[in-house]
Amino acid sequence: TFSLEGKRIYVSGNRGMVGSALIRRLERENCKVLTAPRSMDLREQSQVRDWFAENTPDVVIVAAAKVGGIHANDTKPADFLYDNLMIASNLIEAARQASAEKLLFLGSSCIYPRDALQPLEEAALLTGPLEKTNEWYAIAKIAGIKLCQAYRRQYGCDYVSAMPTNLYGPGDNYDLQTSHVLPALLRKAHEAKARGDDTLPVWGSGRPLREFLHVDDLADACIFLLKHYSGEEHVNVGSGDEVSIAELAGVIKNAVGFEGELVFQADKPDGTPRKLLDCTKLEALGWSARIGLGEGIAATYAEFGASTTHD
Ligand code: GDP
Repeated sequence: TFSLEGKRIYVSGNRGMVGSALIRRLERENCKVLTAPRSMDLREQSQVRDWFAENTPDVVIVAAAKVGGIHANDTKPADFLYDNLMIASNLIEAARQASAEKLLFLGSSCIYPRDALQPLEEAALLTGPLEKTNEWYAIAKIAGIKLCQAYRRQYGCDYVSAMPTNLYGPGDNYDLQTSHVLPALLRKAHEAKARGDDTLPVWGSGRPLREFLHVDDLADACIFLLKHYSGEEHVNVGSGDEVSIAELAGVIKNAVGFEGELVFQADKPDGTPRKLLDCTKLEALGWSARIGLGEGIAATYAEFGASTTHD
């Protein structure tokens, strides 16, 4: 096992949903959390290299990424590919140059082939074509996994990767053009209720299946992996909580107290039909998720209601 005791831990992406959850979780560890100023552009190699030389982190968590839902991915392919390639390359190379002892790279379940057998095992990586709506992001995240593997082989760096399923929780993006389904439906249901609408519009057929993990569970899994995992293969992080988009909309209606009907918008994309992670590997290491979907959504809605602006 690897001890975080007294370590300097750099959390990149600290203003995002994942980075802020990691910082909350790291308060329970006896370590020093480092964050970079907002002005540092992670796509710029020299800025990243200089920051690492000055701040000498012992541990690096790559939680920074250009992220977005199905629409954002489809309309900004260059940003999703370029930004994420640069962020991964710069952080991983800077960590090596500054002799960081450990690095955790975070990806996403969209790295797997669209038609891979479900639940998705780690070994399904690169066995078939990707889902077209998010292949730009996926290619960059696959490159990040491969960088960690290559640096381990060539330089002996202890760099590991974790692939979380669909995440939600405090600090999520509620912008309807760029968000993922869970925050989008929470906001839409909240506003529909406030306006007294009879319907809640849901993109696609409602039939795609998705698994959802609360970001506090992910943060806990990341700390667990830093301490207990050291290996070349990436590790899936899921909850086992799989629902159809229609069922999700039902849970959200309950949480919000909206009583209207769901209306499915067939002109919007469904994306991949199913995305459930096989978490046998993580469970065998000794970790499993704790926050159930109903409970997690209720807590997230309470936090959504408490914040005044949502864009
Ligand atoms: P994905 O998991 O990469 O496909 O990304 P999303 O979270 O954006 O979408 C998941 C599924 O939810 C897709 O089938 C979407 O069409 C569906 N969905 C239904 N309503 C919405 C919505 O209002 N916003 C988003 N982003 N997706 C929605």
